[in-house]
Amino acid sequence: MEAERTPLIAGNWKMYKTVSEAVKTAEALVNQIADVTGVDVMIAPPFTALASVAAVLKDSTVALGAQNLHWESEGAFTGEISAVMLLSTGCTHVIIGHSERRQYFGETDETVNQRIRTALQNRLVPVMCIGESEAERDAGETFNVLDKQLQKGLKGFVSDDLTPLVVAYEPVWAIGTGKTATTEQAQEAHKFIRLQVEKKFGNKLANSTRILYGGSVKPGNIDELMTMPDVDGALVGGASLDASVFSQIVGYRK
Ligand code: PEP
Repeated sequence: MEAERTPLIAGNWKMYKTVSEAVKTAEALVNQIADVTGVDVMIAPPFTALASVAAVLKDSTVALGAQNLHWESEGAFTGEISAVMLLSTGCTHVIIGHSERRQYFGETDETVNQRIRTALQNRLVPVMCIGESEAERDAGETFNVLDKQLQKGLKGFVSDDLTPLVVAYEPVWAIGTGKTATTEQAQEAHKFIRLQVEKKFGNKLANSTRILYGGSVKPGNIDELMTMPDVDGALVGGASLDASVFSQIVGYRK
């Protein structure tokens, strides 16, 4: 299933960086990737730095993403943030269902579904994270887990709703651990994900949906990952915090 999909390299800054640190990193990144073409780039700083980083990215091609959103438009939800608030900072993308949210903050496939619905209604690109734990992989459950997360997370949508969708395959055992899935493991999972999207939503959406790999991506493994036909980019955590390291990933060579 070959298609023209512009690769997307996305950086998840998690709970790192003050406003001034975030601005400095974003400025350095914009400078260092000024000559890179043919790749979409997105960074997701913490909420507190979104507006300031938006000002840095204004005249660049780097997109701004958030790390989460709430599904309600406003209300008494202390500590939460709405789509409209994200839009007002200049966000165009939002990471949804990251495994750290699932693991530590009670995120479920049902709340992932609600968040994706709200993101799409507000024209934010949802970067939907799915992936199996080490125990699930060892038990031979990887495909079942991915299937369940996709079925429940994308429940109730039709193909046309999901045109902007980005899926990030992030095996939980590879996040922040230094362990990377082999290129074959990544390709096998991505191919499976694309097939499930095809079964549920048809060939057109399956062909156009970008599937990113996430889990200890570094300058040393991005080139090989990107040779895989169903790997359309990367969601990068730790290695996105340093502008020069992230720039090397953005400037990968096939
Ligand atoms: C992530 O946070 O989505 C991630 C993949 O982290 P890391 O690159 O540090 O494994």
